[in-house]
Amino acid sequence: MKNLCLLGSTGSIGRQTLDIVHRHGGFKITSLAANSNIDLLEQQIDAIHPKKVCVYDKEKAGILANRLKNNSTEVLSGMEGLLEIAGDSSNDLTVTAIVGMIGINPTLAAIEAGCDVALANKETLVTAGHIIMKAVKEHKVKLLPIDSEHSAIFQCLQGKYGPTGDYAAWNGSPIVEKILLTCSGGPFRGLSYEELRNKTAADALKHPNWSMGNKITIDSATLVNKALEVMEAKWLFMTDVDKIQVVIQPKSIIHSAVQFVDGSIVAQIGVPDMRLPIQYALYYPERLPLDCGRVDLFDLAKIEFYKPDYDTFKGLKLGIEAAKTCGSICTVFNAANEYAVGRFLKGEIGFTDIYDIIEHCMAMHKNIAEPTLEEVLGAEAEAIENAKM
Ligand code: NDP
Ligand code: MG
Repeated sequence: MKNLCLLGSTGSIGRQTLDIVHRHGGFKITSLAANSNIDLLEQQIDAIHPKKVCVYDKEKAGILANRLKNNSTEVLSGMEGLLEIAGDSSNDLTVTAIVGMIGINPTLAAIEAGCDVALANKETLVTAGHIIMKAVKEHKVKLLPIDSEHSAIFQCLQGKYGPTGDYAAWNGSPIVEKILLTCSGGPFRGLSYEELRNKTAADALKHPNWSMGNKITIDSATLVNKALEVMEAKWLFMTDVDKIQVVIQPKSIIHSAVQFVDGSIVAQIGVPDMRLPIQYALYYPERLPLDCGRVDLFDLAKIEFYKPDYDTFKGLKLGIEAAKTCGSICTVFNAANEYAVGRFLKGEIGFTDIYDIIEHCMAMHKNIAEPTLEEVLGAEAEAIENAKM
């Protein structure tokens, strides 16, 4: 039985993680964390009986602690609470399914405690990839991708790399020619920039294939998500950004592919269901059964591919520019986007304003090539300030 810490248990990835663990067992869930949804967290505590939970919101943590007076589960709060549960060296695996840059420090705490990490929280690699990968190497832990494209790439690379989880021996693989990072194109594929302008949050939340949390669903509509995934892939697989090609594949059946130096392309195909990559990360290197539906090649009949429209979906272009530049500019890209998406979801700004805010913040920033954690957080604060333009 392995000890598992689940950060973000009340979210989309968190709930699906619990579902998978419930099906296959093998883990004792010792701690959970959420931001403020104490009603769902309380139900999870009743079902799982973790040793500790963290509610980031201090007031909500107090309410929950009061409700759980006669319960053996300890309630912690704030960043101290997150660091305490993530940094517990008796954990074998920590799933980081928190949304946003708030995930950096808890992820680092888990790695430093010698714990393997199954990572959904892409913002952590986007903004602090150089720090995280160094820590992973130093503490000899596994960093297992949950993001479906990165899981697909990871699955395509099995047997091509050294020991378990030892991606590319940290120097990129000499046999990988290209990573083909697939992208559905989102609900607005094919529209012009003018048509994008008036799209509302309700329109953007209708993703054609995937059911996900709100923030990432908007990022999928703007294609900012794909730019974040280019940055994520660059760190996870130690690959030059030039070797990562974004390919639009509207049905989300090919979750990504790797092209090797002999021209051979290995792709991972499956129905769009996040439980598959979550399960693969949790039980790696085992492959367990999953009742997630099957791709019927005859039903599918054909697979279409398109080049992304970088001029219309400007967020993708800006993000790839940031990824190539590398450094604190990636934090600025991410933070400006986080801020803008928050306002877009509240109906305060238009869809293409998200791009304008990102562009403005990037233009205002003086890049730091290898920022310290403090500088990463400084770049975030600066971007949020500039985003209020
Ligand atoms: P959701 O919005 O559905 O869930 C976010 C979770 O994080 C919730 O449990 C939330 O708690 C918790 N949380 C937020 N802030 C804090 C905090 N400060 N302290 C503790 N917990 C916090 O997001 P998703 O599950 O969709 O996404 C999670 C991460 O996974 C994101 O980084 C996303 O980019 C990535 N990802 C998601 C995919 C998906 O299919 N959903 C696919 C690939 C990657 P509360 O409920 O209380 O607010
Ligand atoms: Mg993805």
